[in-house]
Amino acid sequence: MSALALEHQAVNLGQGFPDFDCDPRLLDGVTRAMQAGHNQYPPMAGIPALRQAVASKIEALHARQYDANAEITITAGATQAILTAILACVQPGDEVIVLEPCYDSYVPNIELAGGVVVRVPLTPGSFRPDFAKISAAITPRTRLLIINSPHNPSATVWSEQDMRQLDELLAPTNVLLISDEVYEHMVFDGAEHQSAARFAGLAARAFIVSSFGKTFHVTGWKVGTVAAPAAMTAELRKVHQFNVFTVNTPMQHGLAEYLQDPAPYLQLSAFYQAKRDLFRLGLEGSRLRLLPSTGSYFQCVDISAVSDLGEADFCQWLTREIGVAAIPLSAFYGDGFDQRVVRFCFAKKDETLREAIARLRRL
Ligand code: PMP
Ligand code: GLN
Repeated sequence: MSALALEHQAVNLGQGFPDFDCDPRLLDGVTRAMQAGHNQYPPMAGIPALRQAVASKIEALHARQYDANAEITITAGATQAILTAILACVQPGDEVIVLEPCYDSYVPNIELAGGVVVRVPLTPGSFRPDFAKISAAITPRTRLLIINSPHNPSATVWSEQDMRQLDELLAPTNVLLISDEVYEHMVFDGAEHQSAARFAGLAARAFIVSSFGKTFHVTGWKVGTVAAPAAMTAELRKVHQFNVFTVNTPMQHGLAEYLQDPAPYLQLSAFYQAKRDLFRLGLEGSRLRLLPSTGSYFQCVDISAVSDLGEADFCQWLTREIGVAAIPLSAFYGDGFDQRVVRFCFAKKDETLREAIARLRRL
């Protein structure tokens, strides 16, 4: 969709990335790190200062202590974190449960490990977890469950009650968990992000995945983290050592310094809530039906009052004829399930959002 958007000079609200730059202080920190000679291989698991900053942040926000040495690993973005966690624990024939719609790397990663993908739908319409269906999908072969809140693409957020229910459901099992929390600092309307770190039973079985790309507007830097109990981290690092070995050094120094100030990530929800509100307000009264957006930087809309086209054809048409790119939700389902819903990304300058609104109001 990004290539098509470029070809048609469309406003690109498709692929999820900001069209504005990061805080200059973060750039300064990285530049200083390079000038200070931090340009060779860092330690395999990440520089100690960054691992410690991540552990301190988790403790401050979620009241759980992770040992920076043995339980925090710096990865090449969340993408490599997820693949590495899967390769570390999934053996051929193991079953892995994904909740659809889901981020597009999960299924190919599981297949690469020789795992058997077990797809459980989130409740159609609300995208809430259906615990009866998740429970029914668990078998003696289930090795891993992957969850993601705030959720890409539906922009829904799991509540404390949801996490408790998951904790209870998994308690009698040996199922491991990947909790993909890359949108952890984008939660709206006063709600709190419910990290798996907050729930003892979940934390004990979870690889918790984060991404600085999302939090600090630097998706191209590809730096992320995994927090996991020591035994699980030891397995993760066996794979990490031989797929990337290490993650680029100056960015790690810059991020470690920048994390000393909590304001940038604590203010991120308010920053994105204002963009969500601007975008929603602009589309009010149009024939696009807005679904709730309670977290992440995505807004889904129901297109059925606007067009008879399927989601993918609609997105192509919208890019070509209206000049706005979006992503079909069917891209996040294995069977291409089409519910006439498309996703817009509002991590854009206000002027970009205003231009997109003006175009979309012609629908
Ligand atoms: N998980 C989800 C749910 C995402 O939306 C993304 C970003 N596309 C990732 C993982 C990957 O993050 P990163 O860019 O840090 O690899
Ligand atoms: N997370 C972003 C999205 O879902 C972009 C990542 C990608 O393009 N692979 O659109």
